[in-house]
Amino acid sequence: MKPWNMERGEKPKEKGVYMAEGGTRNKVSYPGEGFWSEEKDGLHLIGSHCTKCGQNYFPPREICPECFAKGVEAKIEPIQLSSRGKLYSYSIVHVAPKRFNPPYGIGYVDFPEKVRVLGQLTTCDPKQLKVDMEVQAELGRIAVDEQGNEVQSYKFRPID
Ligand SMILES: [Zn+2]
Repeated sequence: MKPWNMERGEKPKEKGVYMAEGGTRNKVSYPGEGFWSEEKDGLHLIGSHCTKCGQNYFPPREICPECFAKGVEAKIEPIQLSSRGKLYSYSIVHVAPKRFNPPYGIGYVDFPEKVRVLGQLTTCDPKQLKVDMEVQAELGRIAVDEQGNEVQSYKFRPID
């Protein structure tokens, strides 16, 4: 699937909502803005790259906060993150917002592109989780919407 391309003036249909290929997924409402690409080797999050200072971001941004602060007009391009990253830190959620189904794991993942992303984990078993372990991005259920439909977004699976 082709990632959205800001250069060509393409934008997600609704702010914060991105349909995966086939359009069969439900809307993404949490935890990020839901930008990704499903490839043969797994799920790749799509972030932003500032061509001026080289900083990468996820979720994608339209302006670079680094350069904007310095008054520099920077060009922002989409960047496809690796499908695997390293678990920087994690926690198990036992008390969750409405429509989430605790307990579940949540963690910060560091990608080789120097972006740290917060997301749900596929397990809430602390025995399967270790700081610095490799994790793989994939799509999965993160919550249910007001009608009880499954809400899908990216999650991170520990690699043995
Ligand atoms: Zn910048």
